[in-house]
Amino acid sequence: MAKAYDIVIIGAGSVGVPAALSLARAGLSVLVLDELASPGQLSNKKAIGGIRATHSDFGKIKVCQRSIEIFATWKEKEGDEIGWLSNGYSYPAYSPEMEKKLKDLMLVQHRFGLNIRWVAPAEYNKLVPGINMKELRGSTYSPEDGSASPLLAVNAFYFKSLAAGAEYRFGEKVTALRLSGDKVAAVVTDKNEYACAAVINAAGNSARAIARMAGLDVPVEPDNHEGAITEPVQRFFGPMVVDIRPEPGSANYYFYQNHEGQVVFCITPDPPILGVRPESTSVFFPLVAKRMVQLYPRLASLRVRRSWRGQYPMTPDGFPIVGRDATIENYIHAVGMCGQGFMLGPGLGELLTRIVKNEETADDRHILESFLPTREFRGVEALK
Ligand SMILES: Cc1cc2nc3c(=O)[nH]c(=O)nc-3n(C[C@H](O)[C@H](O)[C@H](O)COP(=O)(O)OP(=O)(O)OC[C@H]3O[C@@H](n4cnc5c(N)ncnc54)[C@H](O)[C@@H]3O)c2cc1C
Repeated sequence: MAKAYDIVIIGAGSVGVPAALSLARAGLSVLVLDELASPGQLSNKKAIGGIRATHSDFGKIKVCQRSIEIFATWKEKEGDEIGWLSNGYSYPAYSPEMEKKLKDLMLVQHRFGLNIRWVAPAEYNKLVPGINMKELRGSTYSPEDGSASPLLAVNAFYFKSLAAGAEYRFGEKVTALRLSGDKVAAVVTDKNEYACAAVINAAGNSARAIARMAGLDVPVEPDNHEGAITEPVQRFFGPMVVDIRPEPGSANYYFYQNHEGQVVFCITPDPPILGVRPESTSVFFPLVAKRMVQLYPRLASLRVRRSWRGQYPMTPDGFPIVGRDATIENYIHAVGMCGQGFMLGPGLGELLTRIVKNEETADDRHILESFLPTREFRGVEALK
């Protein structure tokens, strides 16, 4: 058997890599295992890079506020370009019902300290010049939200984690967990076996398969989403635009202009398309382009460079599953990130470190209530 580690992380993705960085910097010996060839090769690189603390509950808001601090100061503190842009998020409303829903939610968001306000149509037209004003009632605007490149960010976190002493084994598939009593004694791959004091399941789409290796179950199911990116053009609008009006075929869609001037966008299919189906479809463009151009006619002349399909590792209620398992004490869940794993990753990495070190704060315990592995998954997050 190879050397023993304080912590083995299964999955070098949006969650596993920043967690490895934080844990290694806290002085723990860390091994990250991934069956693919390099960091961030599964869902991480499918994300379009949106980063918001604009959620509907304390847990996600707090974790993402910390993530935003990390993303926003990364270049200044760590020296790497990760494409951070403090462009904000906006949710425009085109009906009195939507306006009320968003304003009611803002009351909750203000209670949890979120910087978000309502902007009237004329002001929104300055943030997103040329937006369709017909029946526009205004929009939320949260200026501290932003965006970054998932490709640049995961590699920045990866190299800094290597410098902090984390080890990685790529091209190794985890095939079993060796239990001893009520603990995980070792993680078994198709090439080796690694003894560990604790294990973190950060396996994204494969969360359920990994949990089953320990005799556990987590309701995480991959849910397919497509994204696309245009050619770069001069900046012409500010915030991420999230249109949450459901229409036949899609629940919502969202787009923004990234740090290089490219417009990146994706849509939430309705009904959901479950399973892992990596192929792009001919349905996506007609559906999303029609909606985007109706909302924002200036997008019509942009040329799309490429599209892709990936998965959200979804839970039934839209909240992640994070925390120590109730029965296997040294098994830590960090799965079910839904459509927000990239934005949750850095904040969660630090939270996971405090969990591993048994140093949770009162705020952490409050956060973890929303993410409890043993909850009944009955509620639904308003902005999932
Ligand atoms: C089109 C699209 C747009 C999105 N946009 C955003 C966005 O704007 N903002 C945002 O925050 N999120 C976004 N997401 C969601 C985001 O991509 C995911 O929530 C996030 O990447 C999940 O992170 P993860 O670490 O759980 O999984 P991953 O990043 O997939 O990492 C899991 C890793 O585990 C490895 N693994 C699995 N099983 C095994 C095994 N048996 N052995 C070894 N390794 C294994 C995999 O190879 C993988 O590398 C988007 C997703 C899609 C598809």
